[in-house]
Amino acid sequence: MENKALITLFGAAGDLAQRKLYPSLFKLYQKGYLGEHFALLGTSRRQISDEDFQQMVAKSISGIKETEKGQAASFIKHFFFQSHDVTKPEHYVVLKDRLAKLEDQFHTTGNRLFYMSMAPQFFGTIALNLKKQQLLTDDGYNRLVIEKPFGRDFDSAKKLNDELSQTFQENQIFRIDHYLGKEMIQNIEALRFGNTIIESLWNNRYIDNVQVTLSEKLGVEERAGYYDNSGALRDMMQNHIMQVVAQLAMEQPVSFTDSDVRVEKIKALRSLRVYTPAEAAANFVRGQYDAGQNTNAYRDEDGVDPHSNTETFVAAKLLFDNYRWSGVPFYVRTGKKMADKFTRIDVVFKKPLIDIFANPRMQSDQSLKSNILTIYVEPEAGFSLRVNAKSAGQGFKTTPVDLKFMQDTSTKEEAPEPYERLLHDALEGNHTNFASWSEIAYAWKFVDVARKLWDIEEPQFPNYVPGSMGPAASDELLARDGRQWVYRLNR
Ligand code: NAD
Repeated sequence: MENKALITLFGAAGDLAQRKLYPSLFKLYQKGYLGEHFALLGTSRRQISDEDFQQMVAKSISGIKETEKGQAASFIKHFFFQSHDVTKPEHYVVLKDRLAKLEDQFHTTGNRLFYMSMAPQFFGTIALNLKKQQLLTDDGYNRLVIEKPFGRDFDSAKKLNDELSQTFQENQIFRIDHYLGKEMIQNIEALRFGNTIIESLWNNRYIDNVQVTLSEKLGVEERAGYYDNSGALRDMMQNHIMQVVAQLAMEQPVSFTDSDVRVEKIKALRSLRVYTPAEAAANFVRGQYDAGQNTNAYRDEDGVDPHSNTETFVAAKLLFDNYRWSGVPFYVRTGKKMADKFTRIDVVFKKPLIDIFANPRMQSDQSLKSNILTIYVEPEAGFSLRVNAKSAGQGFKTTPVDLKFMQDTSTKEEAPEPYERLLHDALEGNHTNFASWSEIAYAWKFVDVARKLWDIEEPQFPNYVPGSMGPAASDELLARDGRQWVYRLNR
């Protein structure tokens, strides 16, 4: 169904807009979710004519097929530009006037979506000015889409939220976490709540531990300036990992609507045990990569402070104090310059209480392995369930085999990109795949303890080599509990 909307994009000449947002909007246009009744007013400080802006948009979708070029030509006609400094209140007056005209021209029925794709220090200022200079509509909806990062800690996140709340209500705010737009992250709910054989075992009676790995092969590249001021805990764990964990840990929602899903995610995060500083010291691991063959140490990267104590790796053990999960650790890790680029979730089940095959008379030299449900999020999308089976042949030995489903390449290629899904959801007013303020607040409260500790304690960096799976302490975090990472390198 066609969505009628007037989009105001702050940061329209930026990297995210050109790499992700325009191509995603084009896909929505091609699929008919956007049509004649949509327009986008891009802003940034630069002076760009409407025509030059349309060419910028055309360039950002230039990888399209010959047959799509006609559509692209009509698509870019919906794009307009206004030079605008977000810190100057008088500039909003001009913006207001242009929005009114575009609204008339494209009959967008008063639906206004404001997208903040720029440095977060401006988010509060923009929101306040939208209200003060009366850029909000009384006819349709007013929605705000906002990029990460949402604060640097709980206090700054709360301040930002308070500022946004002066203009937008919670149900008008869409906080982007692009992991929530990934096919297999959305599949967690289908797997859990659509399958009796999975959901009925999804608790501390049958699950031994849960592991989440977001592994990156690249270093900081051109984002060094931003990253050195942020680190893995803030950049990856507070948002993406905590959102994935909340989906794994939550109770079954009453229905699959955004408000019901939110209630359960919040409830799960509320029961996450917030550590004391001493507990955080024991349950968090940080790392920073060293030099490797032909690669710089983090501290030698362009744009990084040579004495930087910023972590490029983090691992942690999370515990939920609730009936379902009491006693089941969730181990999570993420890092840069790791062995490979992938995201996966491993759910490790308890072994049978009695291993009847361990009886020496059965001539078995192998003990039973744990059942493991692995969700492959990327680069491949799919899942596998490891079960024990009899090895073919004489005698009786058990061997683990994988029941596996992987999406075929064409399904994967046709699947929408996270930004396409999320933009569509925001246009439809569906909050399911966006982070609510309460979720963000609980996530900050959890990671803030480690952050504060790390800010005062000197780390022993660098402590892992590029191409590894992080520092030795990450393996020790599990070894201490008699466990190990399911995905590990053969050393
Ligand atoms: P960018 O620096 O490329 O673009 C920012 C834009 O803001 C530029 O067009 C710039 O001209 C404009 N701008 C700066 N100051 C301004 C002012 N005072 N008034 C008006 N315009 C001003 O940034 P980006 O990489 O596109 O990122 C945008 C947002 O998205 C940030 O919040 C970032 O954290 C987030 N984000 C980006 C990526 C990515 O891949 N680029 C990924 C995840 C999140």
